[in-house]
Amino acid sequence: MSNDTESRREFLMSGIAASSAAAAAGQGTSPATRKKVLWNEMARHEFPALLQNKPVVIVPIGSIEQHGPHLPVDNDISIPYYIAIRTAEKIDEFPVIVAPPVWLGFTHYNMGYYGTITVRLETFIALLSDVCRSIYANGFERIVLMNGHGGNVAPVHAVADKLAQENIMTLSFPYWAMCETEMRTWSTKDGRGPGHAGEWETSFQMYLRPHLVAMDQREPGKERWPFSDAVMKYAHVPERRRESATGSAGDPFAASAEKGERIFNLCVERLTAMVREYHEKPLLRYMDFGSDAKLLPTLL
Ligand SMILES: [Zn+2]
Repeated sequence: MSNDTESRREFLMSGIAASSAAAAAGQGTSPATRKKVLWNEMARHEFPALLQNKPVVIVPIGSIEQHGPHLPVDNDISIPYYIAIRTAEKIDEFPVIVAPPVWLGFTHYNMGYYGTITVRLETFIALLSDVCRSIYANGFERIVLMNGHGGNVAPVHAVADKLAQENIMTLSFPYWAMCETEMRTWSTKDGRGPGHAGEWETSFQMYLRPHLVAMDQREPGKERWPFSDAVMKYAHVPERRRESATGSAGDPFAASAEKGERIFNLCVERLTAMVREYHEKPLLRYMDFGSDAKLLPTLL
């Protein structure tokens, strides 16, 4: 592992508060030689130059919530944050910036365990919408919303749909949607989804931050569904606390750092291709779909 990767992991582990403290102490968070990719490390005079070449901004979105007995509560934000940073560092032809991560998610159903901090649905939608509006108002028109928390999936898509009315056309998805097929193929237990503190999320953390995984605390998730498999295939059941008797879903004993590295690198590869395409395509405009310009304001 390179020193750069090591210090990036330290940055993530310590979080923004500690990073600011380090910066205040004159230590900074990254060597001067590394390309800057974090929005929050830029000075204001650096932004106009970035706007010259169709930049893409990635907004990592997640949550702070219990992740079983063995994973840190920032699991769901740390994964998209790392994927975003590694992707931004790889692309040199045009600016790719990682926005300050949206740490707080919609996760009330995890409040039954210590460590969870949730915001209300309305707060989440307002927060993420305003973050995107601010980025857009700075002149950045290509915005990727990459989410790492299951409870945020519907709200993030709602935000994307809402922003489209204002002509802010984002690309939004949960990171696991980029690699569902491989997750299914490479999994020995959990299959295509990231689960909750099971095989995949544990693999990610064993690769990214092994010192934060309490290996001796792992226990298999005990899923329990309120309806039959036949119904659960299509029905949305919002009382998610019932999904698991232990607060986790999936099998962390099937996890490995090697699996984590493989799926992480695949996500970076897919995101890199997506960001390049987003950069190259002309910007989508709401009007392009044939809406009547005189009618549009009445819809807002
Ligand atoms: Zn999770």
